[in-house]
Amino acid sequence: KVRVRFAPSPTGPLHIGGVRTALYNYLFAKKHGGDFVLRIEDTDQNRYVEGAEDYIIESLNWCGIPFDEGPGKEKGFGPYRQSERKEMYREYAEQLIASGNAYYAFDTADELDAHRKDHEEKGKTFIYNWHNREKLKNSLSLSQEEVDQKLDAGEAYVIRFKSPQDEILQLKDIIRGNMEIDTNILDDKVLFKSDGMPTYHLANIVDDHLMEISHVIRGEEWLPSLALHYMLYRAFGWNAPEFAHLPLILKPQGKGKLSKRDGEKMGFPVFPLEWKDPKTGDISAGYKEDGYFPGAVVNMLAFLGWNPGTEQEFFKLDELTKAFELERVHKGGAKFDPEKTKWFQQHYLQEASNQELANGFEKVLAEKNVDAEKDYIIQVVSLIKERAVFIEDLWDQGHFFFVSPTSYDPKDSKKAWKEDTTALMEELKEYINGISNFEAENVQNEVKTWIKQKEIGFGKVMMPLRVALVGALQGPDLYKIAEFIGKEETISRIDKAIE
Ligand code: GLU
Repeated sequence: KVRVRFAPSPTGPLHIGGVRTALYNYLFAKKHGGDFVLRIEDTDQNRYVEGAEDYIIESLNWCGIPFDEGPGKEKGFGPYRQSERKEMYREYAEQLIASGNAYYAFDTADELDAHRKDHEEKGKTFIYNWHNREKLKNSLSLSQEEVDQKLDAGEAYVIRFKSPQDEILQLKDIIRGNMEIDTNILDDKVLFKSDGMPTYHLANIVDDHLMEISHVIRGEEWLPSLALHYMLYRAFGWNAPEFAHLPLILKPQGKGKLSKRDGEKMGFPVFPLEWKDPKTGDISAGYKEDGYFPGAVVNMLAFLGWNPGTEQEFFKLDELTKAFELERVHKGGAKFDPEKTKWFQQHYLQEASNQELANGFEKVLAEKNVDAEKDYIIQVVSLIKERAVFIEDLWDQGHFFFVSPTSYDPKDSKKAWKEDTTALMEELKEYINGISNFEAENVQNEVKTWIKQKEIGFGKVMMPLRVALVGALQGPDLYKIAEFIGKEETISRIDKAIE
């Protein structure tokens, strides 16, 4: 059975790179009728950040990619927080010692530094593996008695993995194909520390095994760990899952990894939700709060490293689930494009029903203290949504349907208002007052007839009328605006403009 996991460390808000990893895991699981597990990798207590776990869960929910199993959703493989699984890891580390695949090491940080320096002076790199381990302080070089003594005395130790000598490892990755690694360049990585905590490597492998994970889909930054992970599975005598390492997400300029700073500099969020740093109080922007629809963000993220091989660009989540294939994920880094995200957003806004948009717009209106009937809002939305990318834009595009202009665009007024305009508008006002059927089409016919009779240019009337009703030379069909706000309001706005 396909079982995948998203295994973030709660060290801060989830970067969109992390959201993409979660999304690909979700899509792969759903495509194959499998389970999507959330595991919180919180063994590093120093880097734990308050609120980060909740943030991760809220982000997945907002994107519409909830986990099937994880904290609070026990399905028999929990607990799903590594801090709550702490007790088990020691047992597995000891198992590796017993089978000769790991050993205790007592070298202090200072001692290791000295070795490193010493090597450097001779123009060599210090690697803690068979090159050196027999000369260092560990259970392979010390007698059993010495080791027992140190352990009894409570001396600080780590448990290291004993990596093999002179072996070429064959590694497999679904996206990258086959790779070979020479074990002679591999350090004996630390698996467990005397503070009772496993390192990422040990906890990750043990949990993936116990949680019966079939496919590990994660960021490219973990590729260098793959050899060790393969060796760990072998040392335990377990079958390794399949691996897929996703490409980096690159800066919009293309060079280097996308960072929080890039977003701040260029004005786009790199987090799904707004995040308030619990220590500094600094707030980082989020896609949700900036007005993006989750569907647009998901569609954008899906294409950061994958494409369906067809022309189709718009994919709802269920369509993505059908089309997604790990084999179609690219190896090369994916350039982030904030404009593309807006483009997706605009599409999804146009796709949304007027009713849905009106629901959102109603909240914007409430903030502006505007009270309007839902039906009216829906109709306004249908007239103005074309130019909107975000719900918030609906206000810029259509505030004049709800409130009379509080100011007039100086440039547009100058263009529209000539010497004789005031007199003309007085006359027009009287004329409009006489129109009894105020439907747009009728108003249009009547005003047009009036203009023709007066033998003047249309612009001479229509431009100042638009400035009077809208406040600027913008907006949809002017007769529609007149119909919507009604005769009384139309006249009052002309009056106001004349003053
Ligand atoms: N805890 C690791 C992270 O924060 C998980 C890496 C993995 O998926 O193996 O990315």
